Amino acid sequence: MGREWRGRRASVRRDRVSGRGAALAHLVVKAASSGPVVVITSNLHGDECTGIGTCFRVAERLADTLLCGEVHLYPSLNPEGLARGSRGLPNDALDPNRAFPGSHRGTPARRHAGRIWSEVLSQRPDAVIDLHTDSGGAIPYAIVDRVVRGGDGGRLEARCVALAQASGLTVLHEYPTDRYVRFELDRSLPGALVNGPGVPAVTLEVGPRRRIDPESVALTTAATLGVLTELAMVELPASAHVSRLPGGPWRRESGPRATRAGLLLPALSTGTTFRRGQRLATVSTLDGEELEVLRAASDGVVVALPEAAHIEVGAACATVAVLDDEGSGSVT
Ligand SMILES: [Zn+2]
Repeated sequence: MGREWRGRRASVRRDRVSGRGAALAHLVVKAASSGPVVVITSNLHGDECTGIGTCFRVAERLADTLLCGEVHLYPSLNPEGLARGSRGLPNDALDPNRAFPGSHRGTPARRHAGRIWSEVLSQRPDAVIDLHTDSGGAIPYAIVDRVVRGGDGGRLEARCVALAQASGLTVLHEYPTDRYVRFELDRSLPGALVNGPGVPAVTLEVGPRRRIDPESVALTTAATLGVLTELAMVELPASAHVSRLPGGPWRRESGPRATRAGLLLPALSTGTTFRRGQRLATVSTLDGEELEVLRAASDGVVVALPEAAHIEVGAACATVAVLDDEGSGSVT
């Protein structure tokens, strides 16, 4: 297919955003009738690749199904990181997803974030979907940011929850507000959008890193179309994924942190429920001597395990879901 083609319901145009730094690929899907504008971003972390395949698949599906409005897809926000297989930008240790809204000066990550920020806001989006991946074997989930600034935070956060729920995936709120701010999660792309201009945003974390896994692309595509269904732009609701956690509301939490470095032996697979005090992992020597048992601080569910068998002092042995006592909409 060429630079532009028409599906049954919408046109698709391939575009490129140039300027300082690597050119960014940009796909625009436009329906005949006006409606919401949605921006879908992917691969800001250069080693998280599922979203790239998802953008292509979503654009193909939307050509035949988009009822109204327009969708702007950016398959790779970090082409240099993608080529190098690295999370960040060359010559910058700063996580690019802690650099928003960015600036015209400063480190490469801050300047790059500033460029992405201007590009995303230039589309005047009604919602943004940011595609990431956790570790291989993680349960797929949707993340909802904390709204820590702005007058109508409860309503905005509830809107983000509705979009996240429509993905069919487990919905996790971010860390509690104090840590959310301390970890600079309000400087992630979706965090800066909800806490700055007040644009509803959701992050989908699906699939393994470093390769484009067809099954994960299919799941992320279904989840993304589910979110667009909530915005009344398509009629393709996502069914609840088999891994979706019942109950809740849930939030993201770090599992217990190692005080000894060594071999990490997880005790439970992802998706497994545990009780407070239960063993989540053991740190041992390479000849099997137990150095430390890491036990759960509260009841919860294992969401993701580290992509490594060696754990350093201070590193968490898992990402877990725990009940969110701040709840949806209680933060203003
Ligand atoms: Zn990521």
